[in-house]
Amino acid sequence: MPVEDRLGYKKQACHRMRKGLVAANWKMNGRTESNAALLGALVAGLDTNATAEVLVCPPAVYLQQAGEILQGSAIKLGAQNIHAEEAGAFTGETSAAMLRDFGCSHVIVGHSERRELFQESDTFIAAKFAAAQAQGIKPVLCVGESREQREAGETEAVVLKQLQAVLDHVGIEAFAEAVLAYEPVWAIGTGLTASPEQAQEVHALIRQTLAEASQAVAEGIRILYGGSVKADNAGELFAQPDIDGGLVGGASLVAEDFLTICNSIS
Ligand code: PEP
Repeated sequence: MPVEDRLGYKKQACHRMRKGLVAANWKMNGRTESNAALLGALVAGLDTNATAEVLVCPPAVYLQQAGEILQGSAIKLGAQNIHAEEAGAFTGETSAAMLRDFGCSHVIVGHSERRELFQESDTFIAAKFAAAQAQGIKPVLCVGESREQREAGETEAVVLKQLQAVLDHVGIEAFAEAVLAYEPVWAIGTGLTASPEQAQEVHALIRQTLAEASQAVAEGIRILYGGSVKADNAGELFAQPDIDGGLVGGASLVAEDFLTICNSIS
């Protein structure tokens, strides 16, 4: 039975309960001067009545600068990565406690670039998720399949395996203080966006899976879509009942585009 049918009426009712969230993942981009211009434009341009929450995740070295510029605004500050350990001999790494010092409310974990380029395992990602929450920081857990996996019909298995690894480690209740992001790897930075129907199908699957453990957690959690979200496709993606916002890479570096995306949540 298609996932949409299994969810039935509840799917519609839940969508309206959740506040939208649009998160900017700057990746390894930015310089002091351009950051100031971009963040200044976001602070000035964001509609104060906006229905969505907005989160900006700059590179770690710019968290201090970004935090100062965003202070007093409605825009939240997040990080792109953390280490799972609290402190110690981990050259080049940043702990969750350090992010808390900078005022970060969120941290991205399990991004496909970390999984692929830095060989991060499901187990390590689950440990990072727990480490963030131990410091009161909400993890934004990314899951998603590669093009080969989608073509082989493995999307559901891959996404659920990534999700289950974290569920097994932290338990369902921990997801009440987390955000999920479905990011098909084939859509990240490629200009290829999942169709609203393709994305909705996986979002509904994720929510249904969580609902099997806790209906309340499943109804409350925000599931973002990420993968070439642009100003001209955000509206139709965000209109899907189980898509609660976006995790935006490339388009978050252009103030006008990002503001349009933020305002695309109704
Ligand atoms: C991302 O980095 O999480 C992402 C979705 O990037 P882009 O929007 O550029 O595809």
